[in-house]
Amino acid sequence: MQQTLQLVGRNLTDLSKVTFTTHGASQPDSPCNEYDQSDTYEVTEASSDGQYAKVVVNLRSFGPGEDFYHVCTKGEGMGSCWYHQGENSLSRVVVQIKEEETTLLPLWLQICLIALLLCLSGLFSGLNLGLMALDKTELKIIEKCGSKDEKSYAKKINPVRKRGNFLLCTLLLGNVLVNNTLTILLDDVSNGLYAVIGATLGIVIFGEIIPQAICSRHGLAVGAQTIWLTRLFMLITFPLSFPISLLLDKILGEEIGQVYDREKLSELVRVTKDFNDLRKEEVDIIEGALELTRKPVRDIMTKIEDVYMLDYLSLLDFETVTEIMKRGYTRIPVYDGEKSNIVALLNIKDLALVDPDDKTPLKTVIKFFQHPLVFVFDDQKLDQMLQDFRKGHSHMAIVRRVNNEGEGDPFYETLGVVTLEDVIEEIIQGEIIDETDTLTDNRQKAPRKLLRQDFSVFNTPDDHNKAFISPQLSLAAFRFLSTSVDLFHEDLISENVLKRLLQQNIVEEYQPNINDTDCFKYLYQDGVPCDYFILILQGHVEVSVGFEKMCFTGGPFSFYGVQALDVAEGTFVPDSNTDSVYVKNKPYIPDFTIRAVSPLLFIKIGRGHYIAARRATLMGRSKNKFMASAEDDTFNREWKKATLISHAGSADNMLRHSSPDISKPSITISEVSRTASPGMSNSKLSHADSKDSSWSFPSTEEKGGSSCKDHDVKVDMKVSPDEEHEETNCPSDEQTFLIDSKKEVVS
Ligand code: ATP
Repeated sequence: MQQTLQLVGRNLTDLSKVTFTTHGASQPDSPCNEYDQSDTYEVTEASSDGQYAKVVVNLRSFGPGEDFYHVCTKGEGMGSCWYHQGENSLSRVVVQIKEEETTLLPLWLQICLIALLLCLSGLFSGLNLGLMALDKTELKIIEKCGSKDEKSYAKKINPVRKRGNFLLCTLLLGNVLVNNTLTILLDDVSNGLYAVIGATLGIVIFGEIIPQAICSRHGLAVGAQTIWLTRLFMLITFPLSFPISLLLDKILGEEIGQVYDREKLSELVRVTKDFNDLRKEEVDIIEGALELTRKPVRDIMTKIEDVYMLDYLSLLDFETVTEIMKRGYTRIPVYDGEKSNIVALLNIKDLALVDPDDKTPLKTVIKFFQHPLVFVFDDQKLDQMLQDFRKGHSHMAIVRRVNNEGEGDPFYETLGVVTLEDVIEEIIQGEIIDETDTLTDNRQKAPRKLLRQDFSVFNTPDDHNKAFISPQLSLAAFRFLSTSVDLFHEDLISENVLKRLLQQNIVEEYQPNINDTDCFKYLYQDGVPCDYFILILQGHVEVSVGFEKMCFTGGPFSFYGVQALDVAEGTFVPDSNTDSVYVKNKPYIPDFTIRAVSPLLFIKIGRGHYIAARRATLMGRSKNKFMASAEDDTFNREWKKATLISHAGSADNMLRHSSPDISKPSITISEVSRTASPGMSNSKLSHADSKDSSWSFPSTEEKGGSSCKDHDVKVDMKVSPDEEHEETNCPSDEQTFLIDSKKEVVS
């Protein structure tokens, strides 16, 4: 290679010549002809003062390893003699030539290439992780049910990913190729050690760590966006990677993809629950459903000792039916003899047409309906149990096992019952509580906070009741009063107290004298004070109202005299003077007349007893809200007080009974009432007239406004203190009272 040297010295002319030798001179200006010399070079561009000149040399002719060259010159006219330059051996003129290798590419291009190769290295490494980690199954799942973007990414990647080994070979080959090229280029731009360090750091950080971290999360997106590059490399590396991939396919077999069995799937759902967008209930349901094939029915059944069963020989009377209702179960196993011997199933719907009064034997109902009994073994798995329930034979199965413990023959041992609800609860991993359940959990036996109606109270035999009233009728009266008569609403009288009230001696019946058609019984009489409320349960009454004696017929569940119970609020205050509250209220004077026109069964509630019920409710609630025992005690106390006081008070205040054929205490006329002359203006027939209730005459029949025969007569009444407590079934002429609603009572 030619080099231009700048010479600085003296007497340099264009005729001067220069040569080089590898031997140094011992003396300055000593001749050097005896040494090996290089080619001779002519000086050019010598300055006019002879101090500067240039010479173009090619020093490679000495060969490698010769670094230092001594300069020898020959001036014009010096013949063939060459002289070493320099003063002495220390200050000799020496030229050092250092050979340097040249690079193939310009530096900027190399740097650009290095950067590109780093990117490619990162891409291959990232795709290797991102794409190869997504197996074919996952891609299919994403393609079907990923987000919109994920679906399109998966669609792009799927054809390439299908050839797993080919892709793998391409990516690995590409990665190795670019990594190696990168190292060589780095070595080209720096010296060896720096190249090693630079290549290692560059490849590890930019070619592995960063891209793999990104692609482990966004491999799908990166893979889809760069799929063209991957295809290109597949093409480039095809000659090498395709045969290798074929070989791998042959050796390793087809790639199946990740397959999850039940446990893995359940675990997968559980461990990813914080990151997937499944709600807890959904996770529970998935886990529960996966557990079905493993769990046996004995794990979820209701144990036999907790099962409510009926004896095959029992009667479906009111007591049994109310107990069935109280328990709230729809399916009730029926046993014969001992509880482990279940022989039939009663569905509560079977009772729809059964009248408790008939006391139908249970076996009759069972024989009629003949519900199939399903028995299962205790180790039956829940998925099979669910299939059985789906067939529709029965939604309750009796769980049993073969007991071959001890001596004797093996026998079937009944362990419990299992229902469809138990299986569903297992799937959803939670309790289903329906409107009639008394327990929230059949195994833990957690009771439900449910205010359950106890109808058995209506079945309590009551020797004091004059008239018999069936439990059903009693229940109907209870329902009617608590829902249709405002003064008996639960806000005023608690259900418990009302039940107690209905158990008291308040039901009366009336049988007309069939021999005497004129004989009738008055329940209320116009202008005659009274203090009781009446609810007709059976039979009919005739109601006449107002000046014109408008007549109606009232049937069962019509009620009268609500105003008689409508006393001042202060009366009920628990700490008010107990005794006075029962006597201080003004008597109620009806402006209508009611008489029985058929055999009657009716409830009669006196004001005193009503006050007792209200006070008991208030006191019970003030002591302990909804505590039945507190109410019961108070009610008993108040009831006795009210009864005593009303008897005592009536002795003083009551002039006489006005209703001769009604059992005492009955319609009474107080002294105050003797001068009373109520008109239509204060007409209050029943509570139905008051602002917030409805007129209740289910079978009311208007008689065209004409006066009824008996009322025209105006009842003959003989007012006599001596006859005050007299009772007769049918009044004689002397005992018949004449009542004129506009006048005072006359004899
Ligand atoms: P349905 O919901 O069809 O009206 P149900 O409420 O009577 O019926 P299920 O819902 O089938 O009863 O079951 C609720 C829970 O009560 C279950 O745990 C079941 O095992 C239990 N169970 C059902 N019948 C009885 C019974 N006669 N005695 C005791 N437990 C029962």
